[in-house]
Amino acid sequence: MELSEQVQEELARRRVEVIIERNPRCKMTQEGVDMIRKAFEIANNAHRGVKRKSGELYIFHPVAVASIVADEIGLGATSVTAALLHDVVEDTELSVADVAHLFNPKVASIVDGLTKLESVFDQSASLQVENFRKLLMSMIEDVRVILIKLADRLHNMRTLDSMPEHKRYRISAETLYIYAPIAHRLGLYAIKTELEDLSLKNEHPQVYATLQNKLEIYAQDYNKVIESVTGQIREQLDAQGFEYTIKSRSKSIYSIWHKMQTKGVPFEEIYDLIAMRIVFRPKDNIPEKTQCWAIYSIITDLYRPKPDRLRDWVSTPKANGYEALHTTIMSPKGRWVEIQIRSERMDEIAERGFAAHWKYKDDGKEHEIDNWLNSIRKTLENATSDSIEFLDAFKLNLFSSEIMIFTPKGEMKVMPVGSTALDFAFEIHTNLGYHSIGAKVNYKLEPLSYELKSGDQVEIITSEKQHPKYEWINFVTTAKAKACIKNIFKDERKELIAAGESRLESELAKRKLSINARILKKLLRNYHINTKDELYFQIGKDNIDLEDLEKALTQKSTNRWIKIWHLNFGSNKNDDDADDYQDADVDPKQLIKSKNVVLSDDSSNRRYEIAQCCNPIPGDDVVAYIDDENHIILHSRRCANAIKLMSSRGNRIISAQWESHKVLSYLVIIEISGIDRQGIVSDITKIISLELNVNMRSVHFESHDGVFSGNIYLYIYSAIDLQKLMKAISKVKGVDKVTRKDRNNLENSVITTSL
Ligand code: MN
Repeated sequence: MELSEQVQEELARRRVEVIIERNPRCKMTQEGVDMIRKAFEIANNAHRGVKRKSGELYIFHPVAVASIVADEIGLGATSVTAALLHDVVEDTELSVADVAHLFNPKVASIVDGLTKLESVFDQSASLQVENFRKLLMSMIEDVRVILIKLADRLHNMRTLDSMPEHKRYRISAETLYIYAPIAHRLGLYAIKTELEDLSLKNEHPQVYATLQNKLEIYAQDYNKVIESVTGQIREQLDAQGFEYTIKSRSKSIYSIWHKMQTKGVPFEEIYDLIAMRIVFRPKDNIPEKTQCWAIYSIITDLYRPKPDRLRDWVSTPKANGYEALHTTIMSPKGRWVEIQIRSERMDEIAERGFAAHWKYKDDGKEHEIDNWLNSIRKTLENATSDSIEFLDAFKLNLFSSEIMIFTPKGEMKVMPVGSTALDFAFEIHTNLGYHSIGAKVNYKLEPLSYELKSGDQVEIITSEKQHPKYEWINFVTTAKAKACIKNIFKDERKELIAAGESRLESELAKRKLSINARILKKLLRNYHINTKDELYFQIGKDNIDLEDLEKALTQKSTNRWIKIWHLNFGSNKNDDDADDYQDADVDPKQLIKSKNVVLSDDSSNRRYEIAQCCNPIPGDDVVAYIDDENHIILHSRRCANAIKLMSSRGNRIISAQWESHKVLSYLVIIEISGIDRQGIVSDITKIISLELNVNMRSVHFESHDGVFSGNIYLYIYSAIDLQKLMKAISKVKGVDKVTRKDRNNLENSVITTSL
């Protein structure tokens, strides 16, 4: 049942009372309380009768913004008043002069700033986003404008459901591109995270839902791991008289998604999804920093820390004010657990940014707020003075000659610097070494020659069919691994060397040559081999084909450890058609006014171009951008350029559906990696040629120490066909990962298989 407008107004009025009640800064003076109440009545009158898209009265919006300003950012009466009035000049009869007259010049200037900001966004068609920050600073005298604007945007994002689709994309992209980074820079982490999550949820609802679901399932399991650790830590903290709470915090959906995009890894391979947080009430007369390290010491007495994951933002806080001590430990269940150590004050700052500072200083006198606002202003002005990146890149390495490597079960091995995955395999067990074919280092597939870093967690992949190779001697460093390899080849090697020497002798004899120093030198250089025995050995093993001995004696060849296939299947006849764009009988100027357009690859109706930056194909989530020459250009909705365009030229973006009628095909690159074996390339190409609706242009594969990776260029009709093909390839034995290659991979375009 819908409530009458009168009842709704009363409800809104009560919400304002709740704001005043809940926030000490709002009721510091009677004057402030009166001002807030008056602002509500004036805004309520001005907006009376107007409804939001959702059907509720408009006044709920300014009240909600005021509540965010007070509860979530921590501002006082002036800001709450301005928040309540933020839309009156824009949307009603009231002017800035009226606001100045009814309230005070400060409130009026904030409302003025907010109104100007709104109009900037409306005419932002030609605005360069890079200049946006500068414009903000020159226009706005009071930084509170930006904070209230953030609150305004947050509430609009929370209620975005009632907006039409094309507006949702535009608002979401703008939020991601402009507002979330500002919130981050101001240290308003909670708001930043919520803005990002809401943007993702609106732009890719399915991706969001899938990730949310996966995270929930993961959390149920992982919280058991955390529980196994907390018991012992609690015991020690209690014994040393700490007052504290322990909670677990999961990574935001957006940052999971972002990591998957930038690192190209599937959900299953992100291992810092959940962190444990210890928030303590500091003991008197001991510096908080000392207490943080005391807790760190308790934890690391119990569990082994990952050496390169220690982050000390207690000694050197981040530029945006963040303070905490982070460490990652190995739990008894063999899984890493990140632990964040914070005092109550640090925790508050982390959640609410600088706004939390006043609470701990001078009981919130006005000059403290001013100091804080000034510091925000400085932060905004010096966008480059950022020490965070430096700190992130800085890896703390405590041991210079030894590294610590962990087994999948969390057992630690100390190894010399320079050890490879194969060294590690032999370190664990001789047989494991002999049968190893590759390694998963921190869940990523790497060749046996991969050089390990301290803190790596390594799983050795084995195959019964694998036999040791003498070349392995080139990439092991530990005495144990070297001895193991030499041992198994001792006798066999002697025979092969003898056989190789006699084969070379007879081949040279056919050409009326004999083994001499000059010829040996040439051959060694040509095959990149260091010793004569090794050369004979390789010949004896049939690794060197003496058929082209002449060639070897006259010219240089490539590194023999790299095998390269490069197959070309000729150009595709669709090549030319793909750029065809003419005879537009659809008027793009008319299109701008429409809200959604359905495009088809049916040639009689094809009036658009495909963006080169993201190369979308029919079936992908796309938007259409209409450029200044009125060309329609299709971008992938997750393309970085499209996001820029959506935020700066949103009025020229329309949401689009792109259907395939299997008339034209489009170029797509897929990347494949896995464990190399005989015939794997032909197995993969066979699958592609069997798949209808796919045309292969070229294939390029490289193999290095038993791990291969390759790119395949295909012409394909639609995203559905592509998904089908990628699934089929991922099932080929040895294939580890199949990825669609563009700069912004969608989550479901990475397919991993277990080997
Ligand atoms: Mn608003």
